[in-house]
Amino acid sequence: MNHTQALSNPIFKIVSQAADELGMDCYVIGGFVRDFLLERGTAKDIDIVAIGSGIELAKKVAALLKKKPQVSVFKNFGTAMLRHGDIELEFVGARKESYHRDSRKPVVEDGTLADDQNRRDFTINALALSLNADNFGELLDPFDGVSDLKKKIIRTPLEPGITYSDDPLRMMRAIRFATQLNFKIEQNSLLAITENKDRITIISKERIVDELHKILASNVPSTGFSLLHKTGLLPYILPELVALQGIEEIEGQRHKDNFWHTLEVVDNISKTTDNLWLRWAALLHDIGKAPTKKFHKKIGWTFHGHEFVGSKMVYKLFKRLRMPLNDKMKFVQKMVLMSSRPIVLSEDYATDSAVRRLVFDAGENVEDLMTLCEADITTKNPKKQRRYKNNFKIVREKIIEVEERDHIRKFQPPVSGEEIMATFNLKPSKEIGIIKEAIKEAILEGEIPNEYEAAKEFMLAKGKAIGLTPA
Ligand code: ATP
Ligand code: MG
Repeated sequence: MNHTQALSNPIFKIVSQAADELGMDCYVIGGFVRDFLLERGTAKDIDIVAIGSGIELAKKVAALLKKKPQVSVFKNFGTAMLRHGDIELEFVGARKESYHRDSRKPVVEDGTLADDQNRRDFTINALALSLNADNFGELLDPFDGVSDLKKKIIRTPLEPGITYSDDPLRMMRAIRFATQLNFKIEQNSLLAITENKDRITIISKERIVDELHKILASNVPSTGFSLLHKTGLLPYILPELVALQGIEEIEGQRHKDNFWHTLEVVDNISKTTDNLWLRWAALLHDIGKAPTKKFHKKIGWTFHGHEFVGSKMVYKLFKRLRMPLNDKMKFVQKMVLMSSRPIVLSEDYATDSAVRRLVFDAGENVEDLMTLCEADITTKNPKKQRRYKNNFKIVREKIIEVEERDHIRKFQPPVSGEEIMATFNLKPSKEIGIIKEAIKEAILEGEIPNEYEAAKEFMLAKGKAIGLTPA
């Protein structure tokens, strides 16, 4: 079968010409071919494999291009990369690989196209299209990858036990592709992953997290997390989630399975937001429930303070996985910490002051917090479902109403510390803090509007009340 339409971008003709001038065979391989055949569009990162030096081919391609792009050469890997518009071309010489048990870095020698296809992780990633003029667009599919694409199956070209043991990152990749593409992992692969799960320990945290991000960014992330669970990989990666699994029953009282609940919440939120960190917040919002779980004879199961405990756990988890300990982490912590606040509000009649406090505490992130809490509704009771949703709608409306009037979201004290000092002729002292706090409280309680005149008047009265006299 010929697939020249996959190669309609003029860059492929240039690569073709360069290869022919060098007398070298070359192919586009991997994700680009797979995504084209899946009609997922044409990927912007293109992998070219040369039967010969990939670096030489890259330099020749650059020389033929009008703009003469710079070629980045990675000599140790025998690869070269160049950018052409929004396309990133990666060149590598075909290679044959053999592995040692304690490392995912193989011993590499030059090889044929077949050798190179053998070392690919999955049949659907081993598809190659020829680029030379005499067979431009010819598909080379030694492992029936096309049929696996049709059957929606993740399968390894070689024996799965060896494939996953050689490079255990492939276990994560298998699960990630199954999630992204909505494919099934073939049974022998699934078994091999389960058998080799402890080999994940030789993979760097950064690579694992890359795959987790991709799983979380998929349409239905629960596919990936339940596969991680089923294969036994999850305890090595996110034991905090594993600890949420299970239902305990004492004296006829049961609590829900917070692991499966969490996965539902993640799927829910993925329908309404692409914000990766908000999705992380959904994944971690209940992790504090395992260490705080208690049974009380009168009230049943409680998870007191799980939001606070959970937000502390977020820091440890990010640190362990070498994720950035920056504003993204703080955002996730804040979402976890506040994850029950809107729920409490929506269960009852939400007063203006309660809504103002929510907006004050959540600040810029109040919308994200509402999105998280709405995703948290997983009750199967349609009546309850409708009631919760409606209550959240009311809270959202109130947030807008209160915000229009009081501008709490980016709260700035309407009277500055300097002005308080000048008014009462004070040096920096604790009285200033007391007055500022009192003004803020009065605004949040709705005693005064968030305006300068009202706040100034309030300040004078409060100052006098604590024994100060205006200058
Ligand atoms: P995407 O870019 O959408 O994540 P991809 O298939 O292009 O998917 P890359 O990580 O860009 O994935 O890798 C490019 C190709 O290199 C793959 O299609 C596969 O053939 C091969 N490959 C990547 N990682 C491995 C691995 N760990 N083991 C074997 N082959 C791999
Ligand atoms: Mg790619």
